[in-house]
Amino acid sequence: MNILETKNLKVIRGGKEILKNVNLNVKENEIHAIVGPNGAGKSTLAYTLMGVSGYTPSGGEIIFKGEVINNFPIYERARKGLTLAWQEPARFEGIRVKTYLKLGMKEKNPDKANDKIIKALRLVNLDPDKYLNRYVDETLSGGERKRIELASIICMEPDLAILDEPDSGIDIVSFDEIKRVFDYLKENGTSLLVITHREELAEHADRASLLCNGEIIKTGNPKEVGKFYKERCGKCYKLG
Ligand code: ADP
Ligand code: MG
Repeated sequence: MNILETKNLKVIRGGKEILKNVNLNVKENEIHAIVGPNGAGKSTLAYTLMGVSGYTPSGGEIIFKGEVINNFPIYERARKGLTLAWQEPARFEGIRVKTYLKLGMKEKNPDKANDKIIKALRLVNLDPDKYLNRYVDETLSGGERKRIELASIICMEPDLAILDEPDSGIDIVSFDEIKRVFDYLKENGTSLLVITHREELAEHADRASLLCNGEIIKTGNPKEVGKFYKERCGKCYKLG
């Protein structure tokens, strides 16, 4: 069964059709990678799925858990179990890491919530003793905020997480770290839509789709999609 499906999805930004005809399906309990060259429309797709203001489809459908969500505001989509980790993680002046992580949690039991927060920080290799009381502001590096954002996804326990280039800005990282987060999420009932141009991350997915010039031009086994990408979009392909 599909947790997410788009049918002939179109989005216009600044008078230009950025998403032309996106037909995508993400299965329940699947890690699905989106690959494609810079400017293909990957971030636009992520914002449109999440319902960020200014990204209303001009045509087609977004179906999440069997329901057309085209006109649902962002918080309604979040409440239904959809979440997004931004390519550029946000700053929240004056909010401590522990508060930030608690914000979107389903877990209302305070002790269990605390345990989950500590576990999530450890999963993204941040020492809870050092980070729980830090502020989510410019005193944290981009990489640290990115890790905290990944931890926040773990804490939220969404049905589907959209991750826009989850490794970008994390400098001291092994792919094993990120794969471990993906696997943890999947084992705990979260499907993943991972936007990446890292071949190694894409190959960790169950399936991959290639977005090119606002259209999905191929979906299938990540290795095959990656091979097609390298052969057809060779000059754009970034191995990281
Ligand atoms: P990707 O994430 O795949 O690199 P993006 O979704 O960020 O691609 O951008 C896709 C295309 O949309 C790019 O060519 C970008 O310049 C263009 N674009 C994004 N926002 C706007 C806008 N507000 N007006 C015009 N063009 C835009
Ligand atoms: Mg992008």
